[in-house]
Formats: sequence, C-alpha cells, structure tokens
Amino acid sequence: MSHSASPKLTPRVYRDDGARDIQRFKPKRKSKRPRQNDWWDDVEAWDGTSRREQIMAKGERSRRLKTQAESQTALEAVDEGEIAAAWEDAQDAAAVGTVLEVSSSLYRVAVDGRVLLCSLRGALSARETGYTNLAAVGDRVSISSAGDHQGVIEAVLPRRSALARPDPFFRHLKQVIVANADQLLVVASWLDPPLWTELVDRYLIGAERNRLAFMLCVNKVDLATDRAAVQEAVRPYRELGHPVFLASALTGEGLSDLRARLQGQTTVLSGLSGVGKSSLLTAIQPDLALRTGDVSQHWGGQGQHTTSQATLLALDGGGYVVDTPGIRDFAVVGLQPAELMRFYPDIAGVAERCRFADCTHTHEPGCAVKRALQTGQIAIARYHNYRLILAELESH
Ligand code: GDP
Ligand code: ZN
Repeated sequence: MSHSASPKLTPRVYRDDGARDIQRFKPKRKSKRPRQNDWWDDVEAWDGTSRREQIMAKGERSRRLKTQAESQTALEAVDEGEIAAAWEDAQDAAAVGTVLEVSSSLYRVAVDGRVLLCSLRGALSARETGYTNLAAVGDRVSISSAGDHQGVIEAVLPRRSALARPDPFFRHLKQVIVANADQLLVVASWLDPPLWTELVDRYLIGAERNRLAFMLCVNKVDLATDRAAVQEAVRPYRELGHPVFLASALTGEGLSDLRARLQGQTTVLSGLSGVGKSSLLTAIQPDLALRTGDVSQHWGGQGQHTTSQATLLALDGGGYVVDTPGIRDFAVVGLQPAELMRFYPDIAGVAERCRFADCTHTHEPGCAVKRALQTGQIAIARYHNYRLILAELESH
C-alpha cells in the first residue's frame, strides 16, 4: 500500500471488482495553511492509534505515542484549515448534507432543511480506510439529486472526529458509529437506578480515547435527600475540568444549563436505560423524544428498516443530539493495563510521590496514594473504579 501517493483529502476507495477508484470529490483549492500531515492518517482509531502510526516504523510509533498529547494539539490546528478548504470546495461542487440515520443500504441526509433518502455512489467499500462503513451518522456528504426526495451520496467529506468500535464481524476493522461528534454527554441518575461511577469512568475513558469532550449529567436530583452527598460524588469530575449538570427532568432543575451546552454541538448521548435520557430530551425540546417503535414511515417504505447504531436528532437552535446505545461496551477494549493510569490524572499525579517506583498502591509502605485517600485528596470511588477496571484489563 503506497500511502504517500494518496491524493490529499481524498480517502481511496475501491470498487468491488477490485479496480482502483477515487472518490469523485477532489478539492480544487489548496489549503491556505501549510500542509503538514494528512488528516486521514491521523484520525484516531478506537484503540488510540492512528492510521499513520499503523504504517510507521516501530521506533517512530513509540516516539509518537510518547508525545501524543503534544501532537494532538498540533494536529487539531492543521485539521481545521484542511477541513475548511475541503468543505468549501464541496459546497461548490454539489449540495452538502449531514447523514442523520443509516439503514443497511440507505441514508437519510439532511440538506437545505429537507431530508433526502440517499444511496451511495457505485459499489464503494471502505476497505483501505480501516473502517467497514464508508458513510456514518454525522458524516458530511456531498450529494447529487436523484428525483423527488432522493439523492446519491457522491463523496464523504473529511471527518473531524470518529467514534468507532471494533466491527462485530471483521474484528481487525472498525465501524464508525458517529462521525464529527464534539462531545459525549453521559446521563446518570442519583437514584433509581443509583449513580454508578464505575460506568461514568468507563464512559470518560471512552470519550478521551475518541477525543470527545466529556460532560456528566446526574438526573433525578429531586430524589436526593442529601445534596452535599451529590456534590461530593461529582466533585472528582468537576476537579478534572469536566462540566457536570445536576438535573431533574421532573422539576426542570439544571435544564437551561444543559440546553446551553448542547447548542450548536453534536452531542453523543449515553447512559443506562431508565436514568431519564428521554425525559431530559423531551423537557429540553418537546419534539426531541428518542425515536421509538415504528420508524418505517420516514424511510419512505424503502430498504430494510433495521437502522444501525445511531440517529441524529436536530436541535432547534442548531446542533444535534445523537441517540446511540452507547460506547460503554467498547470503551476500554484493547487498552493495555499500563495505559489505564493515563486516564486517572488525579491518581497519577499523587502516585509519583510513592516511595517505590513500582508501587501498586495496595500494601506498600510509603504509598502516597493511600495517604491521599485518607486525607480525601483522591476520591475513594475513583481509586476503587481504577482498581476494578485494572483488574479487568489484567485478566485479558
Ligand atoms: P431513559 O431510559 O434513560 O430514556 O429513561 P426515561 O426517560 O424513560 O425515564 C425512566 C423513568 O424515570 C421514567 O419513569 C421517568 O418518569 C423517570 N424520570 C425521568 N427523569 C426523572 C427525574 O428527573 N426525576 C424523577 N423522580 N424521575 C424521573
Ligand atoms: Zn503507591
């Protein structure tokens, strides 16, 4: 695979007959910013590596992993210019829309305030991209008209982000669940079901591995008899810099803050069933209720109605909320035990002061982590969750 020969901004795709083809869309204009690397190579995979890393020499890969935080910042700066230029070009070429929902072979695409039912140009497959699906929910696509309320997806525009998981059938490939999401909103409830911080931690790890900003909403605070206990439970997440909303779909508490945070963003919504996700969305915007039951009518009676993974729901003031079964099942898949500490900076910062470099923070003398647990500097729940997830990673 000669990757350096790839045209800029144009993921190579192959027709099923094996003949090489390039997605039709090609940017005409050059980006105003100096090009430093190919955005596609650096879209982070679910396992934290990027495609560039996968084709790099071993030493280079480990060097990059070490400076990952640094290179991610640089990467975002480059991406912006590249993507802006590509989108500008696409706007010239054809209508650009957003994929709202995907069934087995059809796509619902929002374009100019309308929703078109689209097919994908030709027999394209995403083989070389490392993903099993070429177009996913959230993708920006350029489309041509194919009659009333119908269109054809001609190209998929570069992604800002990709929430991906291992493909259930082709384990070496990844499936994009949501493209271009900005943030992950985890909804939990204080009671009924009770707040489960291990799950919150797993979502947080999943969000960071997929480079999504993280937000936590604790719903049903109307059921809390001890407000201080609620504040204490969410304190670690606030101290890590993540927005936390204490809310009640019942009383309306916290909803305006939450609504403001969703505006203009593409937000992936996750959480256990029964925590009040539908109730919250309905309270924020009445027609936003999560889609349930009969969905066949908006597919115009076409295709198979087994929609996959996710649906974009449009917010009145701009932005989308994505209804998805969530990422908790694969949030830590493929993570090495030694990597886990990276997601616990609250513990890692203290662990540096342990007497022994290989301290496991369980029984050793001079353990700074155990001391910090006693003084409350490290939240017991966070430490407990770390141990639980670590044990699971070590058992694989
Ligand atoms: P979902 O499965 O996450 O979408 O949860 P639902 O929105 O279906 O809510 C599950 C149950 O919790 C329903 O019986 C709701 O009436 C209830 N519920 C939702 N939000 C609240 C809340 O803020 N306070 C209380 N007390 N109950 C709520
Ligand atoms: Zn220690």
